[in-house]
Amino acid sequence: MDCDKCGREAVMHAAYSGLHLCEEHFCRSVDKRVRRRVREDDLLSSSATPENPETWLVGLSGGKDSVVLTKILHETFREDPRVEILALTIHEGIEGYRDESLEACEELAADLDLRHEVVTYEEEFDLRMDDVVDKDPENMAACAYCGVFRRDLLSKYAEELDADKLLTGHNLDDEAETALMNFLEGDVAQVAKHFDASLAPFDERSDQDDFVPRAKPLRDVPEKEVALYAQLEDLPAHITECPHSSEAYRAEIQDLMLSLEENHPGTRHSIMAGYEELAALAAEEFGAGEGDRELGECERCGASTTRELCRKCSLVEAVHAV
Ligand code: SF4
Repeated sequence: MDCDKCGREAVMHAAYSGLHLCEEHFCRSVDKRVRRRVREDDLLSSSATPENPETWLVGLSGGKDSVVLTKILHETFREDPRVEILALTIHEGIEGYRDESLEACEELAADLDLRHEVVTYEEEFDLRMDDVVDKDPENMAACAYCGVFRRDLLSKYAEELDADKLLTGHNLDDEAETALMNFLEGDVAQVAKHFDASLAPFDERSDQDDFVPRAKPLRDVPEKEVALYAQLEDLPAHITECPHSSEAYRAEIQDLMLSLEENHPGTRHSIMAGYEELAALAAEEFGAGEGDRELGECERCGASTTRELCRKCSLVEAVHAV
């Protein structure tokens, strides 16, 4: 098949748009979607100036999504003195997994000449995910612990590094799967929270002092296209799956989404279009989860929480008690 734009050999066909694209036009179309999302989300505040630039912290895991996001943002803003991009990698302590993806992060950061910080569960919480999985004091899936620890470190370092925005590499498939899971679980509070955390205009978000606004500029790009982009641009992405990956329900939803998309191209886009509208309505009606509840400080670490100990501190305590 030939590229619909220039007639050269196509490297991909997007069933949802009907387009066949060559390597160059495909890569440019991914760049364009990310840049359009940055613009439409007003990611760069009008108050940012060369004298007073914004700092954007990108969560860089070494997987294809965060590597592609970091590369596109770097290219987009490397000549723009109003934005400084930093990368943060979190090492969970998972044998045979994170060490290799950390190498990919370091290679990318060196190639792009980016400031890159690495933090570990071991140094921060005195534990490794491999041990958490062995001890499992709360009888939960590995990702339930890991997600709490990761969110805590992302927030903590976003603050410590004086970041104005925290950016993560969620792609269209991730977002559509999460939306579908929230629908199927009937979790309206989660839908409302989703709006407040990453969809609401930045100036309408929670005004907690320690809240660093988040954004997902890759969320219009399907997973397969992110993978193809990483391959065509020869980016140092690490593709091995985490051995503790245990979200069985998400795996079911992934299969469902793949077959829906194959039989009805455009399903992911339409789920997200409807979800964003519903999330805005849910946030208006129900408030944005914990953002609207009375927040205090965790007795141990000072993080915002509605309890005496925040979830991260109580999980760390439970793991150490075994
Ligand atoms: Fe952590 Fe689960 Fe991701 Fe593995 S798959 S790094 S356990 S959240």
